[in-house]
Amino acid sequence: MEPPSPSLKNWSWAQAVMLGYFIFPFTPFNPINPISMTKQSQEYLDNLRHSCAHLLAAAVMQLWPNAKRAIGPSIENGFYFDFDFGKDKISEKDFGRIEKKMREIAPTWDGFKRHELPKEAAKKEYPGNPYKHELIDEFASKGEKLSFYKSGNYWDLCRGGHIDNPKKELQHFKLLSVAGAYWRGSEKNPMLTRIYATCWPSQKELDDYLKMREEAEKRDHRILGEKLGIFTFAEEVGMGLPLWLPKGTIIREELEAWAKETEKQWGYQRVATPHITKEELYKISGHLPYYAEDMYSPIDIEGAKYYLKPMNCPHHHMIYKSKIHSYRELPLRLTEYGQLYRFEQSGALHGLMRVRGFCQNDAHIYLAEKDVPGEFARVMEMHKYYYDRLGIKNFKIKLGLRDPKNLRKKYHGDDAMWKRAEKLTREGLEKSKVKFEEDIGSAAHYGPKGDVIIESVIGKEYAIGTVQVDLYMPSRFGLYFVNERGEHEQSAIIHRAPLGSHERMVGFLIEHFAGAFPVWLSPVQVAVLPISDKQVKYAQKVVDELVKNNIRVDFYNRPESIGKKIREAEIQKIPYMLIIGEKEQRAKSIAVRARNNKNLGVMKLDRFVDRVLKEIKTKKI
Ligand SMILES: [Zn+2]
Ligand SMILES: [Zn+2]
Repeated sequence: MEPPSPSLKNWSWAQAVMLGYFIFPFTPFNPINPISMTKQSQEYLDNLRHSCAHLLAAAVMQLWPNAKRAIGPSIENGFYFDFDFGKDKISEKDFGRIEKKMREIAPTWDGFKRHELPKEAAKKEYPGNPYKHELIDEFASKGEKLSFYKSGNYWDLCRGGHIDNPKKELQHFKLLSVAGAYWRGSEKNPMLTRIYATCWPSQKELDDYLKMREEAEKRDHRILGEKLGIFTFAEEVGMGLPLWLPKGTIIREELEAWAKETEKQWGYQRVATPHITKEELYKISGHLPYYAEDMYSPIDIEGAKYYLKPMNCPHHHMIYKSKIHSYRELPLRLTEYGQLYRFEQSGALHGLMRVRGFCQNDAHIYLAEKDVPGEFARVMEMHKYYYDRLGIKNFKIKLGLRDPKNLRKKYHGDDAMWKRAEKLTREGLEKSKVKFEEDIGSAAHYGPKGDVIIESVIGKEYAIGTVQVDLYMPSRFGLYFVNERGEHEQSAIIHRAPLGSHERMVGFLIEHFAGAFPVWLSPVQVAVLPISDKQVKYAQKVVDELVKNNIRVDFYNRPESIGKKIREAEIQKIPYMLIIGEKEQRAKSIAVRARNNKNLGVMKLDRFVDRVLKEIKTKKI
């Protein structure tokens, strides 16, 4: 899969996909990607947005004639344009007049007309613009034609990809933000000014998108995560290495306990593997040399090279290989919440969503090839079970397939193996009735790859993990079992991670629930709030009783006004507040207030405890 923006292009994604050592890739993080807004073909939207980037640049060049243009690609849900404004500073305050100018220019654009120029003439079009000169030199050295596109009085060096009728189609756009961006993503280069914007085919789609974006900003897990005490980062620890605070650790552990319980019910066996591993293993798996760029430099232990583990797969394969298996033991399902470390460029890091160390809800299922469709459907059923419980209404599989135009170069294994793996995956998907869409060219090098995409309540999509049928690694590792006829038969593998990593899943859940977690996941389930000091003693008894029932409770016994205590508990999004005044103390009862100002009235403590325990047990959302 192609990364969404040029800034990620020098990341080794493309290379890794090509060589296929992506069993659980974290697809490039798309901050906003509403499923409901992808009715038009992606190609049309890309052309629309890139055309709008021309319009933005045209307006900017009229307003700041000395600005120097760099590039203006379409990205997920919008586009940007990079400019060098020299000494001028621009900010969001300028957006009004830029948009006004864009609206003035758009009606004068009938189309995009292409013409070519030789190198020196092309450069003359951009006097004193080192960015365009660099691009022109680069394109020319590759023997590419230097094409320009002109609309109205405006032209720019461009490879093409526009809409037919800009006058009509470029109407529903909005400038969104300004950011600094290094030329070509390298900090050795000058810092340019990047204007982000969006453009849609209709006003309704633009409005919907802006509304969703606003809601998404309110739910940003980086802001809520800090406010709710879930995670933090420290410069001394390192970028992309989250520190889980006590409250965040509770959420992690609840998820992990749930996975343990569920996997046990579904016939999985837990294993544990080390964080560092000798290079030999990664040579067998092929991570070395092909995935080396995504791994951290090795450390030397007694003359041997050891790497931080980037994936659990090879370790699980070695566990499978440690004994001979009979067909009777299959499918053998090995599971582990495994801690992994992968290199990410600092510019690509994003809160908990893209990190350098993460803990993955991983498992590998070893089985006979003929059993793959049935087990695959069972794996999808487990996905459905988890997502349903979390209130995730929509999820889909993006099925990465081979690019038939690029067969020899990109893929390992013979054609027959590919056809079998694809057929098994399709059968599994059809059996499970999970929504899937095909994505030609994004297969792993040794087999089709299913990226699992989940959708939050506000329609934001996240790539959470991968489910994958693998008929190739068993041959590299020599993984087999003894079949019914007493023969050695090569095993097949299914890789899966329905809950993704703790990092990405918790990041997702913060945004999905806007920090108001269901009771079972809430770090603090109940806050006890005595109205005055006189009730502290009775309130302490209430706290003790809750703790005895394994309910997580915060005691607000500070000498503060009740109003202040309630506000604080509301900010912390605690599901229940028990307010204790003189009346409650006398009646040996409690006044219960649920999140969002819902008054549940006065009740006896044991009735309340029953209610909470039931909600925890059923994982009520
Ligand atoms: Zn263009
Ligand atoms: Zn795997």
